[in-house]
Amino acid sequence: MTDKSQDATQPSDVRVIGRAGSAMAYKIRDYLQRSDVPFVWVELENDQQARREAGVNDLHDARLPVCVFPDGTRMECPTIRQITEKLGWFRSPSLSEYDLAIYGAGPAGLSAAVYGASEGLKTVVIERSAVGGQAGTTSKIENYLGFPKGIAGADLAERAREQACRFGAEFLLSREGVSAQFLPGKTVGYLADGTKIIARSTICATGVQYRRLNLPNEQKFFGAGLYYGAGVSETALSDNDEVIVVGGGNSAGQAAMNFSGSAKTVTVVIRGDSLKSTLSHYLIDRINAASNVRVICNTEVAELHGDPMLQSVTLTNNKTGEKQNLSTKGLFICIGGVPQTDWAAQVGIMRDEAGYLVTGPDMLKEGHLPESWLLDRQPYYLETNIPGMFAAGDVRHGAVKRCASAVGEGAMAVTLVLRYLVDS
Ligand SMILES: Cc1cc2nc3c(=O)[nH]c(=O)nc-3n(C[C@H](O)[C@H](O)[C@H](O)COP(=O)(O)OP(=O)(O)OC[C@H]3O[C@@H](n4cnc5c(N)ncnc54)[C@H](O)[C@@H]3O)c2cc1C
Repeated sequence: MTDKSQDATQPSDVRVIGRAGSAMAYKIRDYLQRSDVPFVWVELENDQQARREAGVNDLHDARLPVCVFPDGTRMECPTIRQITEKLGWFRSPSLSEYDLAIYGAGPAGLSAAVYGASEGLKTVVIERSAVGGQAGTTSKIENYLGFPKGIAGADLAERAREQACRFGAEFLLSREGVSAQFLPGKTVGYLADGTKIIARSTICATGVQYRRLNLPNEQKFFGAGLYYGAGVSETALSDNDEVIVVGGGNSAGQAAMNFSGSAKTVTVVIRGDSLKSTLSHYLIDRINAASNVRVICNTEVAELHGDPMLQSVTLTNNKTGEKQNLSTKGLFICIGGVPQTDWAAQVGIMRDEAGYLVTGPDMLKEGHLPESWLLDRQPYYLETNIPGMFAAGDVRHGAVKRCASAVGEGAMAVTLVLRYLVDS
């Protein structure tokens, strides 16, 4: 487990040295946290400290943040890909053709990797960031079967990655699928860096991307006080601060409880009348019992203030129009996600109005399959309108949006892939 407290620094920790409010430093902390890599964050306060700790000229030197690895390697303002390379995780595909290509290494993709590789399929997983997906960003998943005391998302993901690797699955991290081409009996996946992945079957498990508030200066504060998701890497930094969590779902509830242990106060801001219809019972009980957590209903974030870091927000009551200002250095947005499937529309994969991939019986309209389905057989339950192209987890229309369901769909997709490969 990652221990980020200064006192607990081990020689094996990566040191991330930068100034407060640096979006790049946040991205690096988030990536290391989600990848279960121990690190320590050194927040620079003045030019002298910047020279001493990071070896740069001053606090505003463009070479910040600096990362120092346990072997002494020093990297100035590294990209996530460079960090992946340094950790020895950046690989090129070892085969010219695979049986199964899986896009996305969240719970659905990881499960598909374990089952695909264990069935002897030559399996490759392409992940644009760290393994674990949304699950990897949560401090504790408490409702996942077999872990009565809960398990940190990054820990669960790392175990699954290791398990898949033992069966021979290949992981290509920091690589993003951007397009596809369908040839008879195979799919060519195009990655952002120009790499081509050829596979006899494909599972799309790309999940969803955090929804934004859509406020004018939102991007300016990203990583500088405003974060998407539960912000596990930031928990230790919220010591005695006022934290605001936006959203009424389980991810917001978990974030609130996670911060309640270190923050002075946690304010949960929700649009609806109460948490009852959106939050699991066990989380409602905990929120009610936590003395430093309060819930503000019928309210939305209207404005963000601060320079360069977030200092306060204006909240508006959506029933009365009444406004109030709250001071905060940490605003965590947990308002669900949207699938990123524009590429799928461009290559003729069927989507619903919200962009989720439609599979199996959900493709039927008044009892008829789409004209693009040319085979005599019915599509398999998780198969899209392109034979051999499957979807699993949150990216799929009608998905339950739970870890266990995503894992179940990943496993089921592999069974259907095996049927498809036997048929074809
Ligand atoms: C903070 C938080 C807490 C949660 N807590 C719980 C909980 O306690 N219990 C529970 O059951 N559920 C929980 N959930 C929901 C659960 O995590 C999700 O339902 C689950 O992660 C969905 O898995 P997935 O694999 O379908 O998608 P995701 O987890 O979204 O993973 C998709 C992966 O695909 C990658 N990707 C996307 N596009 C591309 C591309 N083009 N190329 C390559 N890779 C790509 C992404 O980087 C990501 O890693 C929580 C969610 C959040 C955000």
